[in-house]
Amino acid sequence: MTYDYLIVGAGLFGSTFACEAAKRGKRVKVIDRRDHIAGNIYTENIEGMNVHKYGAHIFHTNNKGIWEYVNQFAEFNRYTNSPVANFKGEIYNMPFNMNTFNKLWGVVTPDEAKAKIEEQRKAANIDNPINLEEQAISLIGTDIYKKLVKGYTEKQWGRKATELPAFIIKRLPVRFTYDNNYFNDRYQGIPIGGYTQIVEKMLSSDLIDIELNVDFFDKKGEYLKEFPKIIYTGMIDRFFDFQYGELEYRSLEFETTVLNQENYQGNAVVNYTDAETPYTRIIEHKHFEYGNQPKTIITKEYPKNWNLGDEPYYPMNDKKNNEIFNKYQELANQVSNVIFGGRLGMYKYYDMHQVIGAALLVVEKEFN
Ligand code: FAD
Repeated sequence: MTYDYLIVGAGLFGSTFACEAAKRGKRVKVIDRRDHIAGNIYTENIEGMNVHKYGAHIFHTNNKGIWEYVNQFAEFNRYTNSPVANFKGEIYNMPFNMNTFNKLWGVVTPDEAKAKIEEQRKAANIDNPINLEEQAISLIGTDIYKKLVKGYTEKQWGRKATELPAFIIKRLPVRFTYDNNYFNDRYQGIPIGGYTQIVEKMLSSDLIDIELNVDFFDKKGEYLKEFPKIIYTGMIDRFFDFQYGELEYRSLEFETTVLNQENYQGNAVVNYTDAETPYTRIIEHKHFEYGNQPKTIITKEYPKNWNLGDEPYYPMNDKKNNEIFNKYQELANQVSNVIFGGRLGMYKYYDMHQVIGAALLVVEKEFN
């Protein structure tokens, strides 16, 4: 069998490319070292509930084209991400909005909330935030920082907030409205029936062959000779034998439990924002799809340091790692028959809509 492409990784990037290549009559082989397709968006049906095996995944985008694209593969529900924060038993709404400010300080109007934050910013005396702690305090004041940001962020990244770059916290939306919707994007939802079906449909062409439980590095040399072109979505540093050193990642451990009760926490996502609770969040999967099964399934997420062999979930895009990545990217530019893509191949904190967008750009370059 001769193929036009080898795709390393049956995640969203590799599968989007495979789907589009097959549509154009190309023969494609997809390999993945895991025993299932879909990469980190994999969902597994357990007791009638779709369990997000690699962490809660909420699809959101402002891009109408990408929204329409993904809707070809599944029907989405109206799920709106409104996580709740639990700080030592006190419950606060997220993202930080008028509900949060009201619970914390008793303020009622946006002007009162702004005045309270301004008072705390002034007291902290931060003009030019140089780390995450300062950035957070200058955005939302000391009270929210201490109760809702510090413990969670330090657990998530395994570093003191004073040692983390300020840019990470720019991702936290602050709102002076009574709106608990975490994302500002126009389109948002969860695929009814889970995410795996999306990738199944993407890979359903007769022109696509899938081989699971196969690591690219077991036969790297042969693959490079055998296939005219490779789309590689694994770790870019590993592809180049770590010659410029290892890039750093954060990893996670998931502890999933089936509970003999209907409703455990009343929300899909609850963040534990104190430093003492070892996990960052508990996901109750049924609430993503408004399930009414007699049982429920919860997953606790424990962040951990990444060591070679662990799953690399989050790239650590700080200055040091970005500089190493840039060197790998220069090497990648010199390998004409391999295209590097996805979260690990591009070492970027891509969300799903960005991964689809990036894959479609590669498709456009490759075929137009
Ligand atoms: P992956 O899904 O990682 O796929 C890469 C595949 O390559 C994997 O299946 C892997 O097994 C395989 N592979 C790697 N190396 C090799 C090798 N050597 N040989 C063979 N196969 C290999 N995005 C959102 O939009 N919303 C969210 O709410 C959201 N939540 C997230 C929560 C968590 C905990 C995480 C980790 C990510 C989240 N994301 C979210 C991001 C989303 O998961 C990614 O954007 C998307 O899955 C990336 O797709 P990918 O194909 O680049 O990578």
